[in-house]
Amino acid sequence: MSLACRTIASRKRIALVAHDECKQRLRDWVGEHSKVLVKHSLYATCATARMIQDIGNLKVIPLLSGPLGGDQQLGAMVAEGRIDMLIFFWDPLAVHPHDDDIKALMRVATAWNIPTASNASTAEFLITSRLFRRSLVIRTPG
Ligand code: PGA
Repeated sequence: MSLACRTIASRKRIALVAHDECKQRLRDWVGEHSKVLVKHSLYATCATARMIQDIGNLKVIPLLSGPLGGDQQLGAMVAEGRIDMLIFFWDPLAVHPHDDDIKALMRVATAWNIPTASNASTAEFLITSRLFRRSLVIRTPG
């Protein structure tokens, strides 16, 4: 695979997704960091967006429901370079009808080398990183 680069701007386009058992945890995380997150563009699958849209002054752009194509929609946005970071609290203890979509989203996020957190402690590392506040050049498939 040949490599290219792209720049993640300091104002990031962040995708937020949580499975039902993890939605409260994501809501808590977003609440703790709403003053930082408000400076970025937030996208979320449908029910996740509903869960967090009342926090602070956050503006969350809702996508399709995860099980009804939202994960695929996000995967396409990642591949098109329209998402810079993925916070996806997926439930490792449940089987989902859209498991293939979840796997595809994670695969595309990895292939396009965007920072990805699948749990709260990794999300904490990302948002407290000095790189979170500035632009960053990342390698991408070329
Ligand atoms: P939801 O989707 O935010 O619409 O619940 C999450 C998912 O299951 O991927």
